[in-house]
Amino acid sequence: MPTLNGRKALITGASRGIGRAIAEAFAREGAALALIATALEKTNETAQRCKEIGAPKVMQFALDVRSSAECDRVIKEATAGLDGIDIVVNNAGVTKDNLLMRLTDQDYDAVLDTNLRGAFNITRAACRPLMKSKAGRLINIASVVGMTGNAGQANYAASKGGLIAFTKSVAKELSGRGVTANVIAPGFIETDMTAGLDPKVKEGVLKEILLGRLGKPEDIAAAAAYLASDAAGYITAQVLVVDGGLTA
Ligand code: NAP
Repeated sequence: MPTLNGRKALITGASRGIGRAIAEAFAREGAALALIATALEKTNETAQRCKEIGAPKVMQFALDVRSSAECDRVIKEATAGLDGIDIVVNNAGVTKDNLLMRLTDQDYDAVLDTNLRGAFNITRAACRPLMKSKAGRLINIASVVGMTGNAGQANYAASKGGLIAFTKSVAKELSGRGVTANVIAPGFIETDMTAGLDPKVKEGVLKEILLGRLGKPEDIAAAAAYLASDAAGYITAQVLVVDGGLTA
């Protein structure tokens, strides 16, 4: 039996990488989808794949999650179009790495605005439909560096650490309405975000991963599908680390 039959899910950053894999996993489990990226055509391929998999409905939206007014508009349209929203995945994220002394105001703000403010914008706008749902689920994609920190990523680590604290707060606020809120903290996953990294850095990371391989977007998607399902109905305010043992 598909585990998300009849559920409606909204996913940010659904054009590629982890967001696309989550969309496909949810489609496989029978969910209707609202897919978000910065331009409409960027979600075309994900939407096509999800339809082929058998998603009952797929909507696409162009949205910069940094704009709260735009988030309000898109959440309204998605709620109307899908007849409710049961699952929200805040996955959109960016990196702008640099050592602290060289980190510019612009690069600090850009990462915080997208990764943390963006999740806030979407979550606040989606509160009402989530509370109306019989099984509301908030799933925020953070990172292990939100717990461990990382040299050269002070802005990114701060955004992901903030996202973890934000999610736990939402879990406490919305628990009375049956909404769960959890974080997935991926380790090193092979996507566009990590494609440009120095091969030597990758090799170094690989040595630290107990399971001996870099992560795939599907590894994160499987965790998201679980947290979205009824099987995870008694799990809230948690951080699920999916890193192959990198931080063990
Ligand atoms: P990716 O391949 O670079 O994809 C990033 C996604 O975020 C794209 O869909 C992009 O949309 C979207 N996005 C970026 N800025 C946006 C904005 N302002 N408004 C709306 N959408 C925006 O990244 P990924 O590796 O799949 O990462 C997905 C999430 O996992 C991120 O939050 C990332 O921090 C987290 N994560 C990744 C790793 C890893 O190793 N890859 C590890 C830990 C955590 P466009 O296509 O329109 O630009």
